[in-house]
Amino acid sequence: MTLSCDSLRVTSTPIRQTTIHQTPLYLPGTDCPIRSQVPMASLTSFRVGGPAEWYVAPRHLEELLASLAWANEEGLPLTLLGAGSNLLVSDRGLPGLLIGTRHLRNTYFDPDTGLVTAGSGESIARLAWLAAERGWEGLEWAVGIPGTVGGAVVMNAGAHKICTADILKEIQAISPMGTLERLTPSELCFGYRTSILQRGSRLVTQATFQLKPGADPKKVRATTSQHLKQRHRAQPYHLPSCGSVFRNPEPQAAGWLIEQLGLKGYQIGGAQVAERHANFILNCGGAKASDIFQLIHYVQQQVERHWSVCLEPEVRILGEFQSV
Ligand SMILES: Cc1cc2nc3c(=O)[nH]c(=O)nc-3n(C[C@H](O)[C@H](O)[C@H](O)COP(=O)(O)OP(=O)(O)OC[C@H]3O[C@@H](n4cnc5c(N)ncnc54)[C@H](O)[C@@H]3O)c2cc1C
Repeated sequence: MTLSCDSLRVTSTPIRQTTIHQTPLYLPGTDCPIRSQVPMASLTSFRVGGPAEWYVAPRHLEELLASLAWANEEGLPLTLLGAGSNLLVSDRGLPGLLIGTRHLRNTYFDPDTGLVTAGSGESIARLAWLAAERGWEGLEWAVGIPGTVGGAVVMNAGAHKICTADILKEIQAISPMGTLERLTPSELCFGYRTSILQRGSRLVTQATFQLKPGADPKKVRATTSQHLKQRHRAQPYHLPSCGSVFRNPEPQAAGWLIEQLGLKGYQIGGAQVAERHANFILNCGGAKASDIFQLIHYVQQQVERHWSVCLEPEVRILGEFQSV
């Protein structure tokens, strides 16, 4: 049976030679450095990927806007990076400007309303612990997710049958026109691990969540650490990965379909289907992005052939890959 799904969608902006050679380079009008040829392996949880042509990590909104303006002036394609925990980047790297949100982390808990507003670069797991310390319920499920607030919104990240959309009140984003806008969950068209933000070119700057204050911090902390323990038991956290590679096709779990085919432990180069959880692919050491890409394709083919189910990658695949 031929593989009917086109789920290995890959961006294919050609790698081009930049004309900007001056180093060190700073965002115009700021002391925020722009670095060149930064290895994506150092910025993603898979620990693979070639260099980003340019990389900047703005420290506040003004620098973020300056980054966008610079990319626009130089005609550079843009890629947004949270914690890089759901990205597979090509060994050839990424053209253009990569904007990392890691420094955009202002967080404010409003005790009167139970609303917490966090910068897009704040760790969603850290936010869960901050909420637990205050006795605020609602984020316990997020403790094992190694991403940022922005990445959680874009991916509609979730665990333990709860997802980001369930507690999201609104986001602030920069529109493709460069204006600041506020958007509600209904405008973001959330689905299972999807949102409209995966298709457009909006940049999430902050998100506001509705939590429930007033619980005993001890109790919220206990639930939070119980969730974490449960995940560490069931999932392999000891080697680089992107978490679940495939979205679960209803009604079965992707991991179950893969496991039934005896693919646990199957390896291409340094990439291996995890023994502990078949929907995880691990970088066992020295994996190339192309190994992981090929393994994703191989697993898709096997599942399609045996179960007639088309597994769709949850991981975002960026850059150029040779078709397999
Ligand atoms: C060990 C492990 C366990 C995991 N467990 C889970 C889990 O239980 N549940 C789950 O849902 N996921 C899980 N994941 C996957 C991942 O952590 C989530 O998808 C997370 O939400 C990604 O956030 P990030 O900040 O790393 O985003 P990134 O991987 O950096 O980016 C993901 C996408 O969002 C875009 N993006 C990031 N920030 C912004 C922004 N501010 N504005 C606009 N676009 C942006 C990127 O361009 C990219 O398209 C796991 C990953 C690992 C490694």
